[in-house]
Amino acid sequence: MCIRDSLNRAKPSQHKKTVAILGAGIAGCTAAAALHKRGYKVTVIDRHRTAGQEASGNSQAIIYPKLSVRDQPLPRVNLAALMLASRYYKPFWDAGYGEQCGVLVVPENAKVQQDFIAISERFSHQDSLVQMLDNAGLCALSGIKMSSELGLFFPQLGWLPPAQICQQLLQRDSIPLLSADIKQLKQSDGNWQLLDDKNQLTIEAETLVIANAYGCGQFEQTNFLPVTQLRGQISLLSTSEASIGLKTVICGEGYITPAQNSTHNCGATYNKGLFTTALREEDHCANIEQMSATDNGLGTALGPQNTASMDGRANYRCTTKDYLPIVGPVPYVPLFLEDYDALRRDARKLIPTLGSYRPNLYVHCGMGSRGLCYAPLTAEILAADIAGEVPPLERELRLAMHPARFLIRDLKKKRI
Ligand SMILES: Cc1cc2nc3c(=O)[nH]c(=O)nc-3n(C[C@H](O)[C@H](O)[C@H](O)COP(=O)(O)OP(=O)(O)OC[C@H]3O[C@@H](n4cnc5c(N)ncnc54)[C@H](O)[C@@H]3O)c2cc1C
Repeated sequence: MCIRDSLNRAKPSQHKKTVAILGAGIAGCTAAAALHKRGYKVTVIDRHRTAGQEASGNSQAIIYPKLSVRDQPLPRVNLAALMLASRYYKPFWDAGYGEQCGVLVVPENAKVQQDFIAISERFSHQDSLVQMLDNAGLCALSGIKMSSELGLFFPQLGWLPPAQICQQLLQRDSIPLLSADIKQLKQSDGNWQLLDDKNQLTIEAETLVIANAYGCGQFEQTNFLPVTQLRGQISLLSTSEASIGLKTVICGEGYITPAQNSTHNCGATYNKGLFTTALREEDHCANIEQMSATDNGLGTALGPQNTASMDGRANYRCTTKDYLPIVGPVPYVPLFLEDYDALRRDARKLIPTLGSYRPNLYVHCGMGSRGLCYAPLTAEILAADIAGEVPPLERELRLAMHPARFLIRDLKKKRI
């Protein structure tokens, strides 16, 4: 049996009925909905009393498309994710949450422009997914006098208010949200116990899903996962006479949304190694500069902005080096390394074992900059794993997001 086969099937398939999900961001709430749909009794736990208060708390987040014609897991996962996301969020858009206004992506440089041409040729028969526009088309669709020569338009995407989506997902299915700051996870008598900052038991459940983003690093069961806490800031730009008519999301170096309450959400910065949620004026300036770099005409339409009194929001992404999310069962690291030890000597060796996993423990994190796009798909993968169903995505892509992939890579490269 090859390693990839083994990993794909390395999941406990008992149909446990109670599930605790740690984290009420978009990862936790989509997972809760996917498990509720399958008949599980789900409880979500978060240190905030309301869902969507950390990374999933911006007032306007976009479904960001990242396609490529290259046959690699990242663009293939992205394609699958955005196709599902546009269907998943449709009822929310129809109910007035956010806007399915389409997303325009303009190339950042000549190489990306060539890629866009290749993408438009590859998807030339799928106008409902993506269309290539010339400058006249860009101006007509955006409502702004843009200067880019061409761009890709994704008519079925748009923006959403992620906190409201998180709250709606829980409310819709009457999924309870418990408020507690969880410090320790323990297994006792076959149940997972979640202990708070006073060492009090908050809840116990047969199955536990860790969906607390970069916070997975605080638990001994998941601290092997190589995730990074990466700060980002969005800026609320004032509308101008020319920008108020913006009809679609525009992405390139940065992104900007159509106006809501006389402001545009514009983002976002990437501040490695910076740990503060206080707003920084230099980040507002960087976001505004990104708009002009995205499209000079867009920068002109926005006009001068007062960064000194500008509002915005800063929080942290949970990123992975391969830009793919992490979803699936949690390996029991000491035994898993023994199971796959032969890879240290021969990276191509086929390992005839499933590997060792923590019973009924799963992780759903690493959403990076695309949580809104990834979460509906990865939540389905997670719920299918827990329910012992056939994965809703082909094996190669499923394994590209598997929590054990980092251990396997490190063993093959003799890093551990
Ligand atoms: C500035 C910025 C702009 C962004 N723009 C976009 C965008 O336009 N489109 C997009 O798709 N993505 C965007 N992202 C990324 C997106 O926000 C994330 O991918 C997504 O929100 C991650 O969701 P999550 O549920 O994994 O994490 P979170 O939303 O952070 O949820 C994790 C939850 O776990 C809880 N928690 C953590 N530890 C504990 C604990 N010990 N006990 C109890 N509770 C705990 C937290 O309170 C939190 O509610 C942006 C990110 C930033 C920072």
